[in-house]
Amino acid sequence: MKLYNSLTRQKEEFVPIEEKVVKMYNCGPTVYNYIHVGNARPLVVFDTLRRYFIYKGYEVKFVVNFTDIDDKIINRANEEGVDTTQISNKYIEAFLEDAKALNLYDYETINPRATQYIQQIIDFVQGLVDKNAAYEVNGDVYFNIDAAKNYGKLSKKNLEDLISGARVNINEQKHSPADFALWKAKKEGEPSWDSPWGPGRPGWHIECSVMAKTLLGETIDIHSGGVDLQFPHHENEIAQSETLHDKAFANYWLHNGFITVDEEKMSKSLGNFFTLKDVAKNYDLEVLRFFILSSHYRQPLNFSDYVMGQVKAGLDRIYNAKYKLEDLEKKVVDKEVSLSEEEIEKQMGLRVREFETAMDDDLNTADAITAIYNFVKDINTYIDDESSLYIVKKAKETLETLTNVLGILKREMETIDDEKILSLIEEREAARKNKDYQRADEIRDELLKQNIQLEDTREGVKYRRI
Ligand SMILES: [Zn+2]
Repeated sequence: MKLYNSLTRQKEEFVPIEEKVVKMYNCGPTVYNYIHVGNARPLVVFDTLRRYFIYKGYEVKFVVNFTDIDDKIINRANEEGVDTTQISNKYIEAFLEDAKALNLYDYETINPRATQYIQQIIDFVQGLVDKNAAYEVNGDVYFNIDAAKNYGKLSKKNLEDLISGARVNINEQKHSPADFALWKAKKEGEPSWDSPWGPGRPGWHIECSVMAKTLLGETIDIHSGGVDLQFPHHENEIAQSETLHDKAFANYWLHNGFITVDEEKMSKSLGNFFTLKDVAKNYDLEVLRFFILSSHYRQPLNFSDYVMGQVKAGLDRIYNAKYKLEDLEKKVVDKEVSLSEEEIEKQMGLRVREFETAMDDDLNTADAITAIYNFVKDINTYIDDESSLYIVKKAKETLETLTNVLGILKREMETIDDEKILSLIEEREAARKNKDYQRADEIRDELLKQNIQLEDTREGVKYRRI
C-alpha cells in the first residue's frame, strides 16, 4: 500500500515498524464547542485508513486525543462561570455522540485527555530542560529552537525566515522568536498543576508528543491530522520528540485537505461552519461520512446541500442493493452454481481488486466508491430470484465487507408504514393549528429522515417516499 508522506512530499510504500501492527496517532478536537464538518474530515478519513489496515489483517493501535486544557476552554469556562472540566466533559460527551453517528467507534479508539497526562508531560519537559533543549523564564518553559535538528522539515519552512518574520511580543521572554511554550505559568483565573517551575499548565503541542510516546512508543508509524496542523503544531511535535529521543517521531505524516463552503475554507473564525448537529437535522450522519469519502482526502472538498443530496442518493443506491440481496436470501432456493454464475463470481473478485487497488493508492476512496457502484450495477444486472443461494450470499458478504471498510451501510432498514405516517401527519396538522410550529417542523424532519417527504397541497397534505 502506498501513502503520501508529507515529510518527503511523495507516495511511499507503507512499511510498519512491527510486522502486521500499525501505530497511529491522530490529533483530536479541542473540546470547547460542538464539532463542525471541517473537524469531522480527518476523523472519518483516518478511521477509514484504520479500517483498511484491519481489513488487510493488521492490528491497529489508534489514538485520537482530546485537548481538554487550552485558552479557548478556559475562556469558555470563565464566560459561563463554570470549571474547565465541566466544559470539556460536556463537549466530549457531545463529541462521542456525533462520532458514534459517524460510525467512528466500530473499532477501539484510544481517547486520552491531556489533563490525565500532566506528570508525563512534566517529565518530558524536564527531559528537554536537562538536555538544554528547553529553558524556564518566570515559570514559563520554552523549547529552544536551536536544539532542534532540521526544524521546518515537515512544513518546508526555513528557520531563518520564521525568525525574521516573527512578530515579537514585548511581554514575551523568549530567547528566540521561534521558541515556543512547553509549559505556561499560572495566570489569574486559570486552572494549574504543580511543577518544578511552579504552578502552571501544559502548552498545546507538548501533549501530543507525550501521549503518542506513552501510548504508542517513541517512534510511531503514522501521525495524521488536518493540513492546517502541519505548522506549527506538527512541526513542533517533531522538534520536541526527536530532540528528546534522538530518533524519528513518526515515519509517515498524513494530512487531509480543507472542507470549503463556497470555495472558502470552513472554519470557526470565518463563521461559515456547519456543526454536525446542524447537519444531523437533515441527514443521517452516515451520509456526511459518505460525502467526506467521496473525494480524495488530500483534495479540498466543497460542502453544499446540493452535493449532500446527490451523495445521499448514491448511498441509497447501495442500500437498495443490500436490501435486494437480503430479500433474495430469504427467497431463493439452494441449488448448484451455474456456469454463468461462476463468471459472476469471477467478476466479483475483479470488483474487490478494483476496490483494493484504489485503496492501496494513497487511500483513494473516491475510486473505491466507484468500484462499489460497479459492483452494485453487477448485482442489479446479474443477480435475481433465479440465482443460487451461494451466489446471493457471496454477493451480500462481499458488499458488506467492502462497505464496512468505508464505515457505511450500518443502518438497519427502517420501514415506516402508512398508518404511522398518516397519524404523524395528523399530529402535525394539530400542532400547526395550535401554532406549535416547532413540533410541526420536528415531525416533518422526522419523516424526512425516513425518506418520507411531505407536500402541502390544496387538497391537503400529501406524502411520498423519496
Ligand atoms: Zn496534536
